[in-house]
Amino acid sequence: MANMRLDKVPVREQEPQLRNKNFSEVCLGYTKEEAMEEAERCLGCKDRPCVMGCPVNVPIPDFIAKVAAGDFEGAYEIISEANALPCISGRVCPQESQCEARCVRGIKGEPVAIGRLERFVADWYREQRHETIQKPTGRGSRVAVIGSGPAGLTCASELARRGHAVTVFEAFHMAGGVLVYGIPEFRLPKAIVSDEVKRLEELGVELRLNTVVGRTVTVDELLEEGYRAVFVGTGAGLPIFMGIPGESLAGVYSANEYLTRINLMKGYLPDYDTPLPDSKAVAVVGGGNVAMDAARCAKRMGAQKVYLIYRRGEEEMPARREEIHHAKEEGIVFCLLTNPVEILGDEKGRVRQIKCVRMELGQPDESGRRSPKAVEGSDFLLDVDAVIMALGTSPNPLIRSTTPGLEANRRGCLVVNEDTLATSREEIFAGGDAVTGAATVILAMGAGKRAAQAMDEYLKEMK
Ligand code: FAD
Ligand code: SF4
Ligand code: SF4
Repeated sequence: MANMRLDKVPVREQEPQLRNKNFSEVCLGYTKEEAMEEAERCLGCKDRPCVMGCPVNVPIPDFIAKVAAGDFEGAYEIISEANALPCISGRVCPQESQCEARCVRGIKGEPVAIGRLERFVADWYREQRHETIQKPTGRGSRVAVIGSGPAGLTCASELARRGHAVTVFEAFHMAGGVLVYGIPEFRLPKAIVSDEVKRLEELGVELRLNTVVGRTVTVDELLEEGYRAVFVGTGAGLPIFMGIPGESLAGVYSANEYLTRINLMKGYLPDYDTPLPDSKAVAVVGGGNVAMDAARCAKRMGAQKVYLIYRRGEEEMPARREEIHHAKEEGIVFCLLTNPVEILGDEKGRVRQIKCVRMELGQPDESGRRSPKAVEGSDFLLDVDAVIMALGTSPNPLIRSTTPGLEANRRGCLVVNEDTLATSREEIFAGGDAVTGAATVILAMGAGKRAAQAMDEYLKEMK
């Protein structure tokens, strides 16, 4: 008999007024007993609607049944067939719009906490795991993977498991992509990502860090060196600015730069000398996950006031509901239906104030969201000493501009065959944000997996 409680079994979290001063993980995860109790809420539906909401088709009712029975190892085996990085997806997947959005328990009450259960199983397995990975002994081909985000890591792991000799080229000094430079420690501890990277190395994958493909070496030079195929998983890390006066003042950052200084360059640790603003009042512009992360980091870095400025209403915010809720609990001030029009500086060229206007929502635009219009004469000033722009990103043009014959669309995203993820050059494949524009971790992982399958077939045909 299923557990018919209407809400999810609550999960333990750090107190808001404590956690907004530290970078330790906010959500503490389920205990065994809590996980088993939550797992009993699953009805084991025959038509499995939840699975259809998962981009990588995790067999959700099957793994949850194992959790309910206390067979956590069995649950892990089921998840890991479909999802190579459950420790990560269980934490950062937008479950509420994917698997959990389709859960029938959500019709009357809250859906089953699929993400929390996935995280529980993956964490349990990570704590138990002692085995070392057997290096595959295939006689595969040399393959280059460019970029070590979730797309590149998954592609490299899948290719190595099929016996290919994989080298990952990464521009930064640390592998992990947005998982290490963007998503903060309090949502995704870096130790989890570095464990996954270690497992990749145990599989025999070579990592070449501090290597910017397109500058240090080009894609065609890699092919001339003997790599038989290339996967481009370079993400979408090029920030977008508003184009308003004052954006070149000292104290204006893109969210990517600000988060990179804090996360990758360890700016949050007192013994690191990373240059960062010692701000009292910060304005973060945007309404997505990146804006929430930047605002919550600014609070933790000691800002007394952090304003989140967004031109639409809360309903229209693209950020995960959980992130919005956490940001509010931590004291972020939401300035909704508000748009910056100018950043004002002091005599030394440093940010002093941000001028904003009030907005109202008109008719829905082509994206289905109601388009905001400025209310005449509604401008006002906020005193701030830093402004962080979190308006979105696009793919960096470096690879496509240094690789002749590589097609991209109007938005700068690489054009690929939807099934094989092959680009306009048959030996070059691509996936993740470099193809879709800024999207999600699980979609990037799914693309890395699909591309590895297609590359394996291509390499066998070429032999
Ligand atoms: P990336 O993760 O961007 O990795 C690309 C890698 O390629 C980087 O390491 C980069 O340094 C490297 N690279 C780029 N160019 C070159 C080159 N020329 N040579 C060598 N290396 C190169 N998604 C979610 O699902 N949930 C979330 O909660 C979430 N939060 C986010 C928070 C932030 C702050 C950001 C920025 C994004 C967030 N996302 C989230 C989106 C998600 O992280 C991305 O969709 C995902 O990381 C894309 O993976 P990727 O492998 O395509 O690219
Ligand atoms: Fe849900 Fe993401 Fe896990 Fe799929 S991978 S089951 S969408 S949490
Ligand atoms: Fe269980 Fe919900 Fe999936 Fe049904 S839809 S099998 S209740 S998780």
